[in-house]
Amino acid sequence: MSMEPTRPSSRARSISRRRVLKTAVVAAGAGATALAVGTVPALAGAPAVQTGTQAGRRYRAYVKFSRDAPSVVQLTARALRGREIAVRPEAAQTCYTSVGQAVLPTDSAPERALIMGHGGVGVVEAVGPQVIRAQVGDRVLLNFHSQCGSCFNCLWMRGDRCLNRGDADDPPVATMQNGTPVYHNRGSMAELIMLPEEYAVPLFTDLSSVELSMLACVGNAGLGMAMTKCPVEAGSSVVVFGAGPTGLSAVEGARVKGASQIIAVEPIRYRRELALKLGATIVVDPNQYARRVRKPGDVPRQQDLYEDALIDHLRELCKPKTPRRWAGGGTVGPDHVIEAVGGDYVPPKVERGPDPTGVTVLQQCWDLCSAIGSIVTCGVGQPIGDMVQIRAQQWADGAKHHWPGTAGGTNPRRDNPRYVKMMETGQINMKALASATYPLDKAREAYQVAGDRTVVATVVLPNG
Ligand SMILES: [Zn+2]
Ligand SMILES: [Zn+2]
Repeated sequence: MSMEPTRPSSRARSISRRRVLKTAVVAAGAGATALAVGTVPALAGAPAVQTGTQAGRRYRAYVKFSRDAPSVVQLTARALRGREIAVRPEAAQTCYTSVGQAVLPTDSAPERALIMGHGGVGVVEAVGPQVIRAQVGDRVLLNFHSQCGSCFNCLWMRGDRCLNRGDADDPPVATMQNGTPVYHNRGSMAELIMLPEEYAVPLFTDLSSVELSMLACVGNAGLGMAMTKCPVEAGSSVVVFGAGPTGLSAVEGARVKGASQIIAVEPIRYRRELALKLGATIVVDPNQYARRVRKPGDVPRQQDLYEDALIDHLRELCKPKTPRRWAGGGTVGPDHVIEAVGGDYVPPKVERGPDPTGVTVLQQCWDLCSAIGSIVTCGVGQPIGDMVQIRAQQWADGAKHHWPGTAGGTNPRRDNPRYVKMMETGQINMKALASATYPLDKAREAYQVAGDRTVVATVVLPNG
């Protein structure tokens, strides 16, 4: 494990890129007979390069295939098809939402053997005959969500809700030594990943793959929540619940958008300190504030269902300078509330939050948001069946806006390049989030440390 992710020199990367191109040309010759050349679409200017099917190629991957926690196993690649690309992952971040599956045994074996790790950065080594988005040698960001650009949701600028998500429908991409088929699951915890190009966005930058990998899933979600659907305006007030990699990205996004007040609510001390460095103007420890349900009949019509000292404190922090409504006063609550918490999969080894289910925070988001404000949520892992309570009258006739979704509204093909530009110009710091790197053999440890939350985020380097 290395605590300081290093940025590869441009010379080292250019050599690596030439090597990949050379390998690809060789593969193109070797695989020519295996491809149905006649099926290649006649796309004018299409950048795709046929490089062989990759069938039979052996590689290692961190795979969940039984009740036990996943393990690193040997796989044999199946043939690349139509719009699939083969990518050599350079860096894969360990999203917290996979921690439970990645380190703990499960009640039953999964229906399909799955490669772990959704999202990362790698170099395209081969492309299927219908690929148009990526070329051999491209460095690509592999996203949690596909973005086809053609389905109804994509056309309405919700690339994060693409209907051609594929992972549930896609055929297996590899085979285990005992013949078990293995599915891509967008998994980049592998020496090779083969998946539809809809998940990939080419990146044209000299930034290191380690810091770029933080955009996959967590960075996209955090930046997206503050910079896409939610109208964070210059001068507005924003409360961010959670200062893990997603919440810290949201803090950075709110800073770039010009929010005058950014309050990060986070139980872990070192994360609060980092939030201050990345743009938070105030940090709050939620464990310092009591909360209780009001008794039935003790809830006046305009009052919250809960007596919550944290909400009271945050409202106080966001209060206008004057209560005089004829002088611009009168607002109660922040302009925007962002949730980046979710439920606990494993107990942390650092300070624990007030509610490991993550449901309380969702209720607080609704209660805290000003009557005309915005709520953006992305956390997952809450217990199935748990509820958030909203007054019917507020739901029907209120003016709060809510944008849920695990990518926060990010349209990867539009937004990944602009996030990268902001990283290049120093406006967004993703390097600060990528705290520790691990080799593929230590993938489980990387997930365990992510679950322990002793560092902000861990990154696996599948190819060393
Ligand atoms: Zn994720
Ligand atoms: Zn789509």
